[in-house]
Amino acid sequence: MAIRKIRVNGDEILRKKCKEVKEITPSILTLLDDMADTMYDANGVGLAAPQVGVLKRVVVIDIGEGIVELINPVIVEKRGSQVCAEGCLSIPGATAEVDRPEYVKVEALNRNGEKIVVEGTELMAIALCHETDHLDGILYIDKAVGEIEGL
Ligand code: ZN
Repeated sequence: MAIRKIRVNGDEILRKKCKEVKEITPSILTLLDDMADTMYDANGVGLAAPQVGVLKRVVVIDIGEGIVELINPVIVEKRGSQVCAEGCLSIPGATAEVDRPEYVKVEALNRNGEKIVVEGTELMAIALCHETDHLDGILYIDKAVGEIEGL
């Protein structure tokens, strides 16, 4: 368990597309543990692997309801719309409103390699969208509907 350095906007690794995890090796499990430590240390509600410099499709989320670990997450369903202010640990101090689905369903693998389905509304839906976007090099500021404050 260790806290890793969070990459910040301008670091080109944040703009790269991440590779699918083919095999859940000990280093993937360590990555999940370290990402959770890093997220909690930074008081974030989510973290994607490229934010700690690893180009793999791995995400952790905790909106206050416990840790959710997602390997190779794919959004398979979304409904509705909500516009909320978002921030990102990789863009310190900035916030902007983003239009996201109100409901999202994600399929992924857990750390045991089992297929899981995670559904979310409100903040969880936003976190699922925000974090899976990171895996494709997309930052929330790309989707801001209004002014980006603090950038
Ligand atoms: Zn982010």
